[in-house]
Amino acid sequence: MTNTQGPNAALVTGSSSGIGLGIAEALAAAGYDVMLNGIESGDDVAAERDRLAETHGVRTAYARADLTDPRAAGDLVGEAEDRLGPLAVLVNNAGVQHVAPITEFPDDKWELILSLNLSAAFRAIREVVPGMTARGHGRIVNIASAHGLVASPGKAAYVAAKHGLLGLTKTVALETAEHGITVNAICPGYVWTPLVEAQIPDTAKARGISEEEVKRDVLLAAQPTREFATTAQIGALAAFLCSKAAAQITGAALPVDGGWTAQ
Ligand code: NAD
Repeated sequence: MTNTQGPNAALVTGSSSGIGLGIAEALAAAGYDVMLNGIESGDDVAAERDRLAETHGVRTAYARADLTDPRAAGDLVGEAEDRLGPLAVLVNNAGVQHVAPITEFPDDKWELILSLNLSAAFRAIREVVPGMTARGHGRIVNIASAHGLVASPGKAAYVAAKHGLLGLTKTVALETAEHGITVNAICPGYVWTPLVEAQIPDTAKARGISEEEVKRDVLLAAQPTREFATTAQIGALAAFLCSKAAAQITGAALPVDGGWTAQ
């Protein structure tokens, strides 16, 4: 799967932890130089960044950037190309969530979720497409969600943003189809990340049930396999979508959700 010819750099937004880090690791394993991004300091990410570089023999860099700033996503693409060379891969992964009923949904949370989960992806794509078009090769992967395909109560902004991200994915796939560029979305269900793990003891305490019951009956209630997806599984699919074998997959929304959206 290693990409040995042409541009070999990848940018993964929101890759200091969780799914983004899993994708960065899979791309590094496939031979890509990887630009990491997040809102943590460079010092906080240095150990992971060095580990990726040493383990996989690739170059890594990190840029702290808050992608809710309208200029930040475009600037981040520029910085990644300055430091690692022309981008072969862009993965739009950074995202946040807020849960509240529609009548109480705060304006600032709506704006935050739309700007990070949707507008930042739009701006990064707009910046990266001209170079990919000129080079006749590019891979864009957007990390949506099962909530890009179906809804849940209380998640108006997140569901709207992730549905929007699928619309963006399909549109750019059509616009770039004749230029060697593919644009796809991965739609994870519940993924085992440090953030998910951290909320289990409190939920168990609050509901008076065991941690196993929280996993099976609360978090995985909608996921028929009753198992979390892993960051490595999401990373493996992202790396496959970036390979030559995936050249005819474009405009797709691919669930990794243990059967959630089959129901
Ligand atoms: P996470 O909270 O573990 O990591 C979030 C990453 O985004 C971090 O690197 C953080 O630094 C970065 N980030 C946060 N705010 C930012 C900002 N303003 N600007 C730039 N970067 C910022 O998240 P995760 O659970 O790994 O989720 C990653 C993506 O996957 C999100 O788009 C999320 O919606 C999606 N997703 C997650 C799950 C899940 O179960 N964890 C399921 C479906 C979809």
